[in-house]
Amino acid sequence: MRQLIAGNWKMNGLGRDLAEIETISRAFAARAPNADTLLCVPFTLVPRAVPSAGGVIPIGAQDCSPHAAGAYTGDVSAEMLKDAGATTVIVGHSERRQYHHEDNAQVALKAMAAWRAGLSAIICIGESEKERSDGQAHTICSGQVAGSVPKGAHAHNTALAYEPVWAIGTGKTPTSAEIADMHADLRACLIDRLGEAGRTLRILYGGSVKPNNAGEILKLKDVGGALIGGASLKAVDYLAIVSSAQLPK
Ligand code: PEP
Repeated sequence: MRQLIAGNWKMNGLGRDLAEIETISRAFAARAPNADTLLCVPFTLVPRAVPSAGGVIPIGAQDCSPHAAGAYTGDVSAEMLKDAGATTVIVGHSERRQYHHEDNAQVALKAMAAWRAGLSAIICIGESEKERSDGQAHTICSGQVAGSVPKGAHAHNTALAYEPVWAIGTGKTPTSAEIADMHADLRACLIDRLGEAGRTLRILYGGSVKPNNAGEILKLKDVGGALIGGASLKAVDYLAIVSSAQLPK
């Protein structure tokens, strides 16, 4: 499969920022990208971002309720996101795990809710700084795969995003060897959990990916794309990262 370059706008973006999406969409309409692309915007922008994207770049969201509808004040269901024009939803981002105390079981329910509504899910995992310095990174991440990736995941309904928590928004990244090592381990975990489907599901790297390091990261074996936070907010940076994507070998 082609690499997936997914942007996560987090809690950023007002109507005026749709101009960035329009710029990206014009660039892709003029020259088709070498990668699959996606921008995950705040709930409020999903139905407005879809026309700005002009059918050229899919629009996603950053969380969903596990429930389809009901008395869950303030929550947004996967069905609502689908209805608003989203194709994909991020679940289990470390900021949701940290600030909203989401655990693996809830993340798995959210991923299944995405599938139920006809969306694909980007399931995020990753170790903290302390877990890495304690030598626990691989154990933590394989536990998160086992707990958060539901059976039934395959390349067309799910991507896994490995995002070391200490690399998100900090400008720090693991070494290329550490990323390659973790992705190889995650591939083995996915095969163990999902059988054949685990061989093709894309594993994205996320955490301080910028135009100046994207090329090196996207060349690594088993890196199926990237999840980009800060650098997805500006069209120029996002386009530069997309242009570093590697065609499938
Ligand atoms: C993210 O939000 O998932 C992320 C990786 O952020 P940043 O690229 O800013 O580190």
